[in-house]
Amino acid sequence: MAETVGVTIVGASGRMGQMLVNAVRADARLHLVGAVERVGHEWIGCDLGTAMGGAALDLAVTDDAGTAIAACDAVIDFTAPAATIAFAGMAAEAGCVHVIGTTGMSDDEIAQLAEPARRATIIRAGNMSLGVNLLTQLTRQVAAALDADFDIEIIESHHNQKVDAPSGTALMLGEAAAEGRGVALGDVRDSGRDGITGARTRGDIGFTAIRGGDIVGEHDVMFAAEGERIVLRHIASDRSLFARGALKAALWGQGRGPGEYDMLDVLGLRR
Ligand code: NAP
Repeated sequence: MAETVGVTIVGASGRMGQMLVNAVRADARLHLVGAVERVGHEWIGCDLGTAMGGAALDLAVTDDAGTAIAACDAVIDFTAPAATIAFAGMAAEAGCVHVIGTTGMSDDEIAQLAEPARRATIIRAGNMSLGVNLLTQLTRQVAAALDADFDIEIIESHHNQKVDAPSGTALMLGEAAAEGRGVALGDVRDSGRDGITGARTRGDIGFTAIRGGDIVGEHDVMFAAEGERIVLRHIASDRSLFARGALKAALWGQGRGPGEYDMLDVLGLRR
């Protein structure tokens, strides 16, 4: 391993991509070796720093993901599901750590990570922040302590450009609540209520997605019963939070065996 960890950022022009570029540059334990965008993207061939509107970084944005990934110790990937599957194959080929922040992956897409994870360290989390991962544990505990007299509702808010709903974090929280209850989320998930829905089914876990403006990410887990409510809340006010978590994961993964991990492993929160 190099003295500092070499990082390639895929989707470098994205909201999280640019945040990650800045975070890597500010961290003395890491250095940037690659910046990838999709074929035909206007940044291809441009200097990354200049494309971001700042000083030149002497690093050209490339559409040759395979070469950029082969050159790094860790690839950090906040892109889109189909792209993430392709990058997982390249990371496995290269034997580097693959940190995945991409959300909205289907069960089938997640299952496709099993093969590359036999050869590479994959760290995937719908939310890379310490606070949300702690909230996940708290949600599991509260759900285990309360019975179905308490209706569980998960309410998430995000900016108006987000393409998937419920958010990856909301689903993580839903999984934790279901686990605490000893049920499978797929059997009790209730999302997208509209029209004459009928009364709420006892034991269901409900999801509501709010989209507007520049909201970075807010999640409430509500346990509502007759006469009382418990609400666990996390508010992310700055995207750099997720970038810091991703960098932590890239460092944690160095020298780790192949397999699929998440932020509970990285943060030492897994019980
Ligand atoms: P964004 O601004 O749309 O950025 C996504 C970037 O990925 C874009 O630059 C996009 O390029 C690029 N991309 C897509 N397909 C690609 C491909 N095949 N090759 C190379 N680049 C490709 O979105 P964002 O807000 O940064 O979010 C990205 C993902 O991270 C979403 O799934 C979001 O939910 C997730 N996220 C996760 C966390 C977490 O903590 N886990 C936190 C925040 C966001 P184009 O513009 O050309 O499509």
